[in-house]
Amino acid sequence: MTILGYVTGIAFLIWIILPLFKKDSTWVSLYVEAEELADKKQRVYGNIADLEFDFAMGRLSEKDFKRIRQSFLSEAGRVIEKLESQKSSALMERINNDIDNLDKSKKSKTSSSRVFCIVCGAENLPEAKFCMKCGKEIS
Ligand SMILES: [Zn+2]
Repeated sequence: MTILGYVTGIAFLIWIILPLFKKDSTWVSLYVEAEELADKKQRVYGNIADLEFDFAMGRLSEKDFKRIRQSFLSEAGRVIEKLESQKSSALMERINNDIDNLDKSKKSKTSSSRVFCIVCGAENLPEAKFCMKCGKEIS
């Protein structure tokens, strides 16, 4: 690969990555993004391996090698950072959903264990000893 090839590669990666940051964080796009990011991470690592191979073959000066390698590494860093932040935001959404479900199951449990007065039929709290409407003892 030539230096122009690497520069084009970096420009291409930026061109692909930028729109990802503008997408809505819905589950579907999160999933697609995760796939794309994982794919991109592999490609950046592949590029670094290629670069190291070219340098070992003496096709690059040490200065160019270090400069290009650094840009690939920061590219990989950005991709990994994005993957991590996506994971944690997906995790937060998951936790919030779980809390919602927890509240719902608690509420339905409470309402199903409510007791009704045998005399007047008023609904009373499960822990009530006497009917709050007619005062009859609840067995
Ligand atoms: Zn009653």
